[in-house]
Amino acid sequence: MSEYKFETLAVQGGYQPTAPDFAITPPIHPSSTYGWSSLEEPPLHRYSRISNPTRSVFESLVGELEGAEHCIAFSSGIAAMTAALGILKPGDTALFTEDIYGGTRWLFDEYLNELGIKKVEFDSRHLSSLQEAFERHSDIRVVVFESPSNPNLRIADIEAICQEAKKHEALTVFDNTFASPALQNPLMLGADTVIHSGTKYLGGHSDLVIGAACTNNDGLAQKLKHTVETTGAAPSPFDCWLAARGIRTLAIRMRQHCENAGQIAAFLSTNPAVSRVHYPGLPRHEGHEIAKRQMKGFGGMVTADLRDGRPAVHRFLEKAKLFHLADSLGGIESLVSYPTMLSHASLPDETKRRLGITDGLLRFSVGIENCDDLIEDLDQALKA
Ligand code: PLP
Repeated sequence: MSEYKFETLAVQGGYQPTAPDFAITPPIHPSSTYGWSSLEEPPLHRYSRISNPTRSVFESLVGELEGAEHCIAFSSGIAAMTAALGILKPGDTALFTEDIYGGTRWLFDEYLNELGIKKVEFDSRHLSSLQEAFERHSDIRVVVFESPSNPNLRIADIEAICQEAKKHEALTVFDNTFASPALQNPLMLGADTVIHSGTKYLGGHSDLVIGAACTNNDGLAQKLKHTVETTGAAPSPFDCWLAARGIRTLAIRMRQHCENAGQIAAFLSTNPAVSRVHYPGLPRHEGHEIAKRQMKGFGGMVTADLRDGRPAVHRFLEKAKLFHLADSLGGIESLVSYPTMLSHASLPDETKRRLGITDGLLRFSVGIENCDDLIEDLDQALKA
């Protein structure tokens, strides 16, 4: 279906109604196992840890949206990241952007580190930081990064980073969770593997946990498939079905997320209780020009620093009615997170300071509600 535009692929990709019933919506196949018609004829799907028809619909759909030959579904975004980093061997070095998602940092510190894999960090806003890391460390095998990043929505030049990594024969793993394939396609900008927490914008309704890894490299795809088969990190058919159903409205949801987030960033920028707003759609955001070039919209996440720090955060959280304090993002409903005590709680104070994670920082996952209602809620909650 690759001849169609994104909106059409999102609605009709991954599945064709077929005989005998021509069901317009893909059925759910909960069966764990499938019968052989004879010893010589194994079924297409043999056992649901290995593959499953409903999972195939989700995988084909995400693959089509990312422009990927191969998409492999996982039980969570972090399972997809774990599998993508499965190419690392003891003694190898992985280069992570310093503001990588906290769970990926945790995966390294608690697991990969124990396997004898080394980590170095770079600042993905500056190509020179990547070049310096390659100069200092000759054994970097993988570069892991994301854009916009969490929580301060820094923008990395995906194409430039992938080109530089290739020069040094390092593979790139890009986490496209925050943008979703509706806003950017990192494989087309040179990334080797793209992972998603489908729990977020792909599913879009905060009602499932799922992951996906996409690649156009046959060898990497084989490795990813092998990982899901051997470790059993497969999603359930029901979650695959829900996620595929969510993706049907991805294009239109992302449009509204971007529209609302843009308005909210502009509103917060003029609010006296706010000292700083981070949103790549704001012309003064340092990554604005790169974001304009590589993204089709600036996303649904906005971060703001409250001038009066933690006391102001407490007041805001007590008064906000439409922004619910919760982990996660990317659902149709608006959420607010307090990075210093939630997603980034385990970081040392010095790292928090470097990454701009202050006591006044709130991260908004802007939903698709009426934007006037959202702004009114923010306005009343920000009044001292
Ligand atoms: N990547 C990013 C950017 C995330 O925000 C998250 C979860 O918050 C993940 C990966 C992990 O996804 P999951 O919770 O589905 O394992």
